[in-house]
Amino acid sequence: MYDIPFLDLPPLNGASGTVHLPGSKSISNRVLLLAGLAAGTTAVHDLLDSDDTRVMQGALAALGCTLRNEDGVGSGGGRVLHVTGLGGQLAVHEAEIFLGNAGTAMRPLAATLAVLAATQGGNFRLHGVPRMHERPIGDLVDALRPLGCQIEDLGTPGYPPLRLRGQAGGLLATAAPIRVRGDVSSQFLTALLLALPLVSADRDVLIEVEGELISKPYIDITLNLLARFGIAVQHDGWQRFVIPQGSAYRSPGSVHVEGDASSASYFVAMGAIAAHGGAPLRIEGAGSDSIQGDIRFVDAAVAMGAQVKSGPGWLEVHRGRWPLAGITLDCNHIPDAAMTLAVMALYADSPTRLNGIASWRVKETDRIAAMATELRKLGATVTEGADFIEVEPLTPGAWRPAAIHTYDDHRMAMCLSLAAFNPLAGASGPAMAGMSPPPPCPVRILDPRCVAKTFPEYFEALFGVATADPQDVPVITIDGPTASGKGTLAAAVADALGYHLLDSGALYRATGLASQWDGVAPEDEAGLARLAGLLDLRFGHGPQGSRAWLRGQEVSDHLRTEAAGLLASRVSAVPAVRSALQGLQLAFRRAPGLVADGRDMGTVVFPHAALKVYLTASAATRAERRHKQLISKGNSANIDDLRADLEARDARDKNRSVAPLRPAEDALLLDNSALSIEDSVQQVLGWWQQRRPF
Ligand code: C5P
Repeated sequence: MYDIPFLDLPPLNGASGTVHLPGSKSISNRVLLLAGLAAGTTAVHDLLDSDDTRVMQGALAALGCTLRNEDGVGSGGGRVLHVTGLGGQLAVHEAEIFLGNAGTAMRPLAATLAVLAATQGGNFRLHGVPRMHERPIGDLVDALRPLGCQIEDLGTPGYPPLRLRGQAGGLLATAAPIRVRGDVSSQFLTALLLALPLVSADRDVLIEVEGELISKPYIDITLNLLARFGIAVQHDGWQRFVIPQGSAYRSPGSVHVEGDASSASYFVAMGAIAAHGGAPLRIEGAGSDSIQGDIRFVDAAVAMGAQVKSGPGWLEVHRGRWPLAGITLDCNHIPDAAMTLAVMALYADSPTRLNGIASWRVKETDRIAAMATELRKLGATVTEGADFIEVEPLTPGAWRPAAIHTYDDHRMAMCLSLAAFNPLAGASGPAMAGMSPPPPCPVRILDPRCVAKTFPEYFEALFGVATADPQDVPVITIDGPTASGKGTLAAAVADALGYHLLDSGALYRATGLASQWDGVAPEDEAGLARLAGLLDLRFGHGPQGSRAWLRGQEVSDHLRTEAAGLLASRVSAVPAVRSALQGLQLAFRRAPGLVADGRDMGTVVFPHAALKVYLTASAATRAERRHKQLISKGNSANIDDLRADLEARDARDKNRSVAPLRPAEDALLLDNSALSIEDSVQQVLGWWQQRRPF
């Protein structure tokens, strides 16, 4: 997951392959609460693991529910969470509960704890991040107070934080219908539907909705899940809901959480925009049998031009009409996924107007304002109103590189990432006839980690299916003499930018090792080149940092030995080995970008790298560093000998005929003798920033 201040997406030009969706947020948090209230233990399969579901789990644990994780036993090998519920009886009567920015946790828990405190006694404080304290809850509070719930506004009236209090033995006035507004957020009705079965033992409980109910499909999810937990809510239309007398939560034993249909929208859009070659973009986890309203996003995407096939639990998307068609749509039924349409609109040949989206203004951020601002940064003309947004398409050449603010809103980050497909905009449209294509634009996503709210691995999933022209994928090369710290610097820069890392020395070290394993003599140049060409070397991350596997065997520590370095030095002097490794090295150039460390990275392998750094440090400094390193590992060493060795190796490296150590002509020199690693990293990032168009 990208835990960095920004992530630069290179221009992307295609998408195909398979994406596995994370679990639905809406289903996950409802199921968690239902399992937490029910009697018995529920095995929850494929639960979404994200910020919002973590705060809900924290709340349940604080209330005395037992939660136990079991890895790798769920359907499809995912994890299973076993939740043992309260059986409707409070086990803990006093708690402080932090709910982050999770509306799906705040609203239902507020109603549930208000009802439980009022009847069984309790004192609960619910709070969240500052934005949570700007998201309305007054309509829910107004529905609960007439019942006799004691709800105290601890900040601005009508907004969290809230205190919920009551005495044991309290009775609630449930004889009269309970009225709730339905036109600001459907979560208020959901909250009541989830809480009131706790007090329906002796009589029917009737809920009446005032105003036109928005986001009805979310109520469908609530009703569907209530039914699985033993509560058969009766309703006729969307105005009156009856929880029958004697209703009580019963665990169904096990529940499967389907993939998130709102998260699917980004990939459906990606398919419509970028699955233009042979293979479609396949989305697994949500499909034709989905109970989520946002699955209807597919219809809107089809109206804009997508070709979609679907079956139970899957979708396959292909580009159809191109450019996309602008649409006018009332998005009341797909409020979250509709944001994705606003970005698809950039790729259309007529304007798109999304109506019925007033609820965007009270979500994670004011999404209408945020969307308008960020689309304009990309160059688009956007009109916004209280409850609509209208987006004009972007003509080729009108796109601007933009640093996209994400407002701590996961959907802003995910939607706007689709702007990175701008090289495809208008590609076959009439505007392009006879013109050379305009330069493609990278897109900077600020605070990319905000996707953790619902889809922590979103960008990994994006890079798993999106393709880029290698020429558009930025490369930074870092070279320098032995013991200059280039490996450490390269890894830190790659980490800071979220880029891939190519430790080219490791390829030579591995070739040397493979030659030893296979008994290929150092003089057998053709044999060595053959080994290099077939090198089965894989890199990954383990608990101790980066790891390497050669032919499936872990060789990380072995590759770092002095002996492996010496062997590498010999095999790297064989020109045929160098050219055999070129293809492997070039293949590291993948979105979002590459930091390549080693000898000829900036001169031979990536001669057009966007930034080349040549790291130097005096022989004295390098000898000192190496000395410290050896001593810290318990080895004895003589600093003067080390220095003499380094100087001799420098001379050899500079004077060798094959790939001599020499800075690329356009490399920036960085003498780090007096710099800390952090200083060097900051210097390189500073140079990098100067070359970026943001
Ligand atoms: O950087 P490292 O110490 O891992 O490199 C091992 C050996 O491989 C060095 O002797 C270096 O000269 C050689 N090498 C090379 N070209 C590269 C990377 C390393 O010749 N791109």
